Amino acid sequence: MTQFEKVLKDATQPKKGRLFVVSGPSGVGKDTVLDVFHQALPDVQQCITVSTRSMRPGESEGHPYYFLTVDEFRQRVDNDGFLEYAMVNGNFYGTPREWVEERRSQGVDVLLKIDVQGGLTVRTKDREARLIFLMPPSVEELERRLRARSTETEDQIAIRLLDARSELQQIPNYDYAVLNDVVENAADQIRAIVLAERCRVSHQE
Ligand code: 5GP
Repeated sequence: MTQFEKVLKDATQPKKGRLFVVSGPSGVGKDTVLDVFHQALPDVQQCITVSTRSMRPGESEGHPYYFLTVDEFRQRVDNDGFLEYAMVNGNFYGTPREWVEERRSQGVDVLLKIDVQGGLTVRTKDREARLIFLMPPSVEELERRLRARSTETEDQIAIRLLDARSELQQIPNYDYAVLNDVVENAADQIRAIVLAERCRVSHQE
């Protein structure tokens, strides 16, 4: 390899796949936006995370989570099996460390759709992770979307909205903020972020 080829390779090819985190308040439309995003950029792999919550109608093992009992979850925590984990709405959720590391070591870019506490934990473990916050146009619109999906009780909606207000305060700790006003635009912006990050000069050792 010539000197120039080496400089070219080192500058733009990190040794492992990149890590992207997408967070945002409950009801903001993460799933809808990410579905459109993955159609446009299928080579970014989204991690299926683990949850102790009960399965909802229409869900199955691996769709959208791997479902564990609290004891099984604790065991995986003890075995350092999670890149991060958090209690969200009274249940545990965790990102399987091995899956993420395996993909990244193969050069695959990985996306985690996790809550804000999880995103901030990932940041403490990997400074190169890129954190993207999906924002609602307003808290009123978020409330309207939460009601429209009819999956929460009135009490749960009130708690989600309180949580949303504190999550929105964490936007300054994220790298990017994307407004989910029109789904296609939001998906397009996340795609633009990933493409831009792929062109970023790598400073990895
Ligand atoms: P739901 O149970 O309604 O699908 O998800 C509840 C919340 O948990 C969502 O904000 C989702 O992004 C978050 N979540 C899902 N998996 C994980 C995970 O592995 N870690 C963390 N910290 N949050 C997660």
